[in-house]
Amino acid sequence: ANKIDEIKKAISSYPDFPIKGILFRDVFSVLRQPKIFGLLRDVMVEHAKQLQPPVQVVAALESRGFLFGPLIALELNVPFVPIRKKGKLPGMTRTVQYSLEYGQDAFEMQEDAVKQGDRVLIVDDLLATGGSMSASCSLVNAFGAEVAECFVVMELSDLNGRAKIAANVHSLIQYD
Ligand code: IMP
Repeated sequence: ANKIDEIKKAISSYPDFPIKGILFRDVFSVLRQPKIFGLLRDVMVEHAKQLQPPVQVVAALESRGFLFGPLIALELNVPFVPIRKKGKLPGMTRTVQYSLEYGQDAFEMQEDAVKQGDRVLIVDDLLATGGSMSASCSLVNAFGAEVAECFVVMELSDLNGRAKIAANVHSLIQYD
């Protein structure tokens, strides 16, 4: 809990970014401090290692999920695979649409990224409404794979994004 407090203290918050009324939590401020970044890595890896049954693939969301997913995957000695906005990944892909406040967007994974039955840990920096994470779960499930857990560094608890998600959700830091 002490490590978590240190990490939380290192996260900068920016009012009215990217638009008025939003309080933006900037996890990059942790990466500026190698000691704190190391603590964050240790906490993430320790958590991921004790998941049972073991995680077989780590997937992370573009773009800040990419800061953490590969660290975890390397330590677990399992593949890391990206979840990206439509049109960014080469080769055969699988797509899931999701709705935004205005309109729609889509996430993709490469066709050979996960296999049927794989237990996939999905990683992102922050859970807000849960739209991105629930779409990522649908995408993983579309492969016949299982979501071992949705893991985020930060969770905006009041938005109750986890209610949208059938899989287990774990966050290190919560903001009301
Ligand atoms: P959701 O789909 O509403 O849960 O939004 C989560 C996505 O938006 C994540 O991929 C986050 O990176 C991004 N996001 C939303 N709010 C913030 C914030 O305050 N800081 C950093 N990322 C955010």
